[in-house]
Amino acid sequence: MAELPPFEHTPIDSIASTVNGIRASFLSHKTRPLEFRLAQLRKLYWGLSDNKDLIIEACKKDLGKPTFETYLTEVSWCMNDIVFMSKNVARFAKDESAQDIPLTNRLFAPKIRKDPLGTVLIIGAYNFPIQLSIGPLIGAIAAGCTAVLKPSESSPNAAAIMQKIIAESLDPSCYTVLQGAIPETTALLDQKWDKIFYTGSANVGTIIAKKAAETLTPVTLELGGRNPAIITKHADPKLAAKRLLWAKTLNAGQVCVSQNFTLVDKDMLPLFVEEMKNSLQEFYPQGARNSPDYGRIVNLRQFQRLKTMLDESRGKILLGGTMDESDLFIEPTVVQVDSLDDSLIAEESFGPLLPILPVADLDEAIKIANQVHDTPLGLYPFGTQKEMEKVLSQTRSGGASLNDGFFHASIPTLAFGGVGSSGQGAYRGKASFDVFTHRRSVTKTPGWIESQLDIRYPPYTLKKQQK
Ligand code: NAD
Repeated sequence: MAELPPFEHTPIDSIASTVNGIRASFLSHKTRPLEFRLAQLRKLYWGLSDNKDLIIEACKKDLGKPTFETYLTEVSWCMNDIVFMSKNVARFAKDESAQDIPLTNRLFAPKIRKDPLGTVLIIGAYNFPIQLSIGPLIGAIAAGCTAVLKPSESSPNAAAIMQKIIAESLDPSCYTVLQGAIPETTALLDQKWDKIFYTGSANVGTIIAKKAAETLTPVTLELGGRNPAIITKHADPKLAAKRLLWAKTLNAGQVCVSQNFTLVDKDMLPLFVEEMKNSLQEFYPQGARNSPDYGRIVNLRQFQRLKTMLDESRGKILLGGTMDESDLFIEPTVVQVDSLDDSLIAEESFGPLLPILPVADLDEAIKIANQVHDTPLGLYPFGTQKEMEKVLSQTRSGGASLNDGFFHASIPTLAFGGVGSSGQGAYRGKASFDVFTHRRSVTKTPGWIESQLDIRYPPYTLKKQQK
């Protein structure tokens, strides 16, 4: 098998000229024809397919990602998105006739063109390094933009394989990968962009948004969460435990949409914990540590951050709790906490820590959920249909899965995004095309209509005003 390419930082002094080149390609109109976009999408598909073993190896090196998870959430995820986009891009790109136009204005043939925004910067996060970078790129290509991709330096092997795939598959004058950390990203942000699409933490999202505001550059921000799960006393504890455990063990809990804390009706608590225990045993009969189906924390910094969170918690560990720094292993760990300012709730954990807070009833759960974060990225109620509808009608969140952990985020054609401080803008499915597209309103005034237009020209005679 071919070797993984090395990860190398892009020299900062080369960034401006590379970006200028990518912009010049956009201005040459090369990416406008649909045939060009479709050909690029096709090549990207085959680039991913041909390199899938290297992608799997890269994700294993970066995050200890199980092969099946990488295949499901990175490789086939992106390939399916490409197939969907390729099948539908002609339809998405078609002019739309304008809606609700007064009869007299229809003579001006009002319509909406779908124009590419231009040259875009895509900044990716480390946890799903391929999906979160290639996903937006698919939309940018489909919309007719040129693009620079800056993957996360925290998953360097995935970043390097993406660079190889894009360099070998796509038109290098239109799409490129630049590598680096803060200095390189800062240099990238100093360039002129027509859109910045950023996935990552809210802190960095704020830096990006401030910088973009200087030049009125539009941004899409896919940020983090502190997402609540709510278990009412009418929920099915077995189902809830299994589904929520899955949502916190996939990618070792490094998932922006997984629940950060679970509010459990106090009467349901013993059953729910018991079922968590059963599910954990079912998932990893030999323990998570020895399972090929459980990943690792991305790096020492994140490991130590999670360890500190757990050390500082005043909660009671009910399940798990073991860690091994040498292997960046953290066991799925269920902790019963007693207050909202517990370290496990006060910050986004982004790891396999599952704090549980007992609550008196659904009203208290809703109150607490709104208090912790009034606009989380995701929200996961378990209970009767009526209870779940009540949760939806009394909260806000980017998305929600009823009776499940983050399943909404896996529907390929359902727009995905945050709200408020969990993000702005959305992508996936048609939304991936729209997010890189300018809806350009166009009218055409026929020459023969001039006599009808006379009213608009000065002088505004009394006769005209009385018409
Ligand atoms: P991060 O914010 O640390 O890094 C994301 C990207 O920003 C990286 O490419 C990084 O190089 C760049 N970056 C970091 N510091 C920067 C700075 N000062 N200036 C400019 N660029 C900088 O995020 P992460 O650690 O990779 O990911 C974890 C966070 O991302 C979590 O909060 C998680 O919830 C969120 N996330 C959100 C989504 C989503 O779709 N909403 C998906 C994945 C992760």
